[in-house]
Amino acid sequence: MFDDQSRRYKNQLVPLQPIDVDKYKKFVGDKAIEELKWLSEPLKDKVWANVNSTFIGGGVAEMLRSIVPFAKGLGIKCRWFVIEGTTEFFTVTKKFHNMLQGKKDRISMEEIFHAYLENIYNNLKQTKIPAHMVIVHDPQPAAAIMSGNIFGYVLWRCHIDTSEASRRIWRFLLPYINQYDGAIFTCPEFVKDGLHIPEYCITPAIDPLKEKNRQYSREKAMSIVSPLFKKNNIDPGRPFILAVSRYDIHKNQQTIIKAFKQMKKQLPADAPDPLFIIVGNMATDDPEGEKMYQTILAEIGGDKDIFSFLNIEDNDRIVGALMNLATCFVHVSTKEGFGLVVTEAMWQGTPVIGSSIGGIQKQVMSGTTGFLVEPTDVEKIIHHMVFFLKNKEERSVMGNNSIEHVRSNFLLPALVKQYLYLMRYYLEIDNKFPPSRINDITYSEIKKAAYGRSVWPFSRDALHEKIESLWETLETQSDKD
Ligand code: UDP
Repeated sequence: MFDDQSRRYKNQLVPLQPIDVDKYKKFVGDKAIEELKWLSEPLKDKVWANVNSTFIGGGVAEMLRSIVPFAKGLGIKCRWFVIEGTTEFFTVTKKFHNMLQGKKDRISMEEIFHAYLENIYNNLKQTKIPAHMVIVHDPQPAAAIMSGNIFGYVLWRCHIDTSEASRRIWRFLLPYINQYDGAIFTCPEFVKDGLHIPEYCITPAIDPLKEKNRQYSREKAMSIVSPLFKKNNIDPGRPFILAVSRYDIHKNQQTIIKAFKQMKKQLPADAPDPLFIIVGNMATDDPEGEKMYQTILAEIGGDKDIFSFLNIEDNDRIVGALMNLATCFVHVSTKEGFGLVVTEAMWQGTPVIGSSIGGIQKQVMSGTTGFLVEPTDVEKIIHHMVFFLKNKEERSVMGNNSIEHVRSNFLLPALVKQYLYLMRYYLEIDNKFPPSRINDITYSEIKKAAYGRSVWPFSRDALHEKIESLWETLETQSDKD
């Protein structure tokens, strides 16, 4: 554990190179990419900054690694800042996360003022984030808006399932969120009361060019997992059911283990004898992962047909190949903002047994790309596992449906397009609401329209120049670091 006192607060600017966006044409077609180029034309050289609290682990970091190079490939100055935090900070923000997802817990004044707000303040007093559009991801950096050091249009992007958020924590965050120029959720039902800013609904996406999402042939996928199988005495001839996620209470891995164990006892004689592989990791901003992993190991209890892995080596290739080879993928979270793992498994042509929760419902079309179940309905999970083990043909049809469903809805270009619309709207290139807008004109917009211009000290061009010059200072600073 690091020494909190000696820790230096310094936001990290993640360096990522632009990518040639034409490479995505083979996945989504020429027209879709040409449209993105057209939309981004007036945004060239404008700055789009992202702020979050971890480089690795979890879906947000996963997406930013792709969004930033893609937007840069379109000519936008897209940046990614990671705020640093003490152990105390991440312990309290994990509490926020859990409480926003409905878990009952208590937070002390000390945690709020010392561990959370002071950390944010110390972080942001070191760094200015000037941009034409800033997206602040998730609750960890949410209060950063009050630092006065983020310039430009700033939107809060909530990736978690807040449909049953604890009132206590929602009420605490509300005054901060209401300072933003907009809030983005994954599903409309995640929006809680009390917001008086524009609300948007945007679904996440996966990057088909990432190693994890390369659609290998079965032979190639088998050759990738072969060393892992050999090392762990996993019989490559046996079918396996797969689960991949962070070790986290809401991911509900215990229910899958329970269902698998029970299924083995009642497996019909004509069904093949399956294994269960569970792969998981921990985000750097998640202090509870280790404890959760121990709980999972205890639940497995030495069952020889269950293989669990933590922070697997060669993660992306192995995860992609396992998803490609699995008979079915199971993801029955009790709360889930979206669940990129579901999208990834579907893109590999593997049907998903998913819980009818949050963003999973947007992806799994029951009976077409997999099956939706209640998160703790062990009997139904068993029923669908057996179905996939016994019915190769249906499995394959649903797998193909899954690929096409992801292609049409959940690939990176579709996600970036939504952000481009936002940026165009806030920079007044478009004067109609972006397609992701879900509420009507708000109090904050009326106020801005009424008074905004008269109190604004810069013309728009002068403002852009100012942002550009602040940005240059920042880049020179971070080069030196
Ligand atoms: N992931 C991974 N290795 C693991 C566990 C998870 O690469 O051992 C990745 C997974 O493939 C996905 C992301 O981490 O891209 C998790 O995103 P998701 O939206 O499913 O859940 P979150 O962790 O953000 O709640």
